[in-house]
Amino acid sequence: MKDYHSLIAGNWVKSSKKLPIENPANQKIIGYLYDVGSQGAKKAIEAAHNAFPNWSGNTAKYRSDILKKWYSLIKKNKKEISKIITLESGKPLKESEAEVEYGASFIEWFAEQSLRVSGEIFNSPDIKKKMMTIKQPIGVVSAITPWNFPLAMVTRKTSAAMACGCTVVLKPSELTPITSIKLAELALKAGVPPGVLNVVNGNPKIIGKSLSTHPLVKKITFTGSTLVGKLLMRNASNTVKSVSLELGGNAPFVVFDDSNLENAVNGLIDSKFRNAGQTCISANRVFVQESVEKKFLDLLVNKIESLKIGDGMKNSDIGPLINTKAILKLKSHIKDALKKGANLLCGGSVSTVGELFFQPTILSNVTSKMMAFNNENFGPLVPIITFKKDESLIKMCNDTSYGLAAYFYSQNSKRIWNISEKLEFGMVGVNTGKISTYLNPFGGFKESGIGREGSTDGLEAFLEKKYISWDQN
Ligand code: ADP
Repeated sequence: MKDYHSLIAGNWVKSSKKLPIENPANQKIIGYLYDVGSQGAKKAIEAAHNAFPNWSGNTAKYRSDILKKWYSLIKKNKKEISKIITLESGKPLKESEAEVEYGASFIEWFAEQSLRVSGEIFNSPDIKKKMMTIKQPIGVVSAITPWNFPLAMVTRKTSAAMACGCTVVLKPSELTPITSIKLAELALKAGVPPGVLNVVNGNPKIIGKSLSTHPLVKKITFTGSTLVGKLLMRNASNTVKSVSLELGGNAPFVVFDDSNLENAVNGLIDSKFRNAGQTCISANRVFVQESVEKKFLDLLVNKIESLKIGDGMKNSDIGPLINTKAILKLKSHIKDALKKGANLLCGGSVSTVGELFFQPTILSNVTSKMMAFNNENFGPLVPIITFKKDESLIKMCNDTSYGLAAYFYSQNSKRIWNISEKLEFGMVGVNTGKISTYLNPFGGFKESGIGREGSTDGLEAFLEKKYISWDQN
């Protein structure tokens, strides 16, 4: 059984304590992770601090060339990395392969975009004075990432930070650390100098505390639950660190009476069943206009029945959930909904395939009183809410403290513009269930987070703008 180390100042480090890493498809241990604790985190932060002057002091072109090599190495090792992702996260292999492409695309994008970072020279109101701004990297960055996209969430943060000249201490999820370790190996091979990218593994509470409170850290970027995001924000406030957060969602997915219903079903499958529903932009509440409900549900049930549940290594469409906690959450949503009057159209329980596999499940007659309406289910559960008028629909969609992604299907341009404007969500998919690329600003309103990743905004998050006022006398 392999032991997995942390990367600190270019050295692979172990400790006396180890945590098991499990394959969720069969709960077998696939390796052990050394827990380097707060001492390891502190050393990694110091290493990042020491590496910062040389890395940030070099040219954007120098950093861009190294990042492009990292990108090429990831693409070259796509098969091996995809298998690692499936083994530790459970997602189907075809989704892991897509994640490698998606995750690598951030590195290429930020390597290119960083060449275009520039300041401004203003038309000064004072003839003797020159006024200008320059952009500079913010400093040492802590990055904490989740298990549902073990590669893409890491590259989206680290490559943006590194392209700007920042140095990074990454804490990947303890459930899926192997992908990050492989990425770090390839980063060293690509020429990333020691200390520029550090990976610290272990107990999240202890390491998270160091990463969010240490005075040498200037920025914390986090993707995960709203609960932990709020905790990190509180920790960061003592030293006024810059904070970027990508937190939970409660995405509405709306099917209007003028939708192309086949496309809407396919879009829902894309949005809901990717990674067995374990993504923060998964459709979580499906609103269907009364007049098309029967036809839509018939098409949906039919489609869902064709999805193959099974081990991600064996050509399946839906893999396991990450752990028992995830199964218990789904069961509690279903129990609560049925008690309050929902109808079970299909699924509803754990699959015979294995302990962590859950049947794709549809509940109709869901209302705002139910857990399934108010909480992210993070699984293959589709709660259906029937609606009559656009006005009441908008109110229901926005009736949540979250605001990450929203989707709707309609062929009416007036409606499309009206609904797009009124939805209080950071990302809106119109006639599509797939919205994520390197190019779009990814992020949410309300308690879904702060800031945007990907796009040109993704670089700005790691840059400080400095104003220079120069009296030429
Ligand atoms: P999820 O419920 O989706 O697993 P979490 O917010 O628990 O989301 O996990 C996202 C990331 O946050 C993971 O890397 C996890 O290890 C880390 N994490 C969990 N608890 C804490 C904490 N108290 N402080 C810092 N990081 C944490």
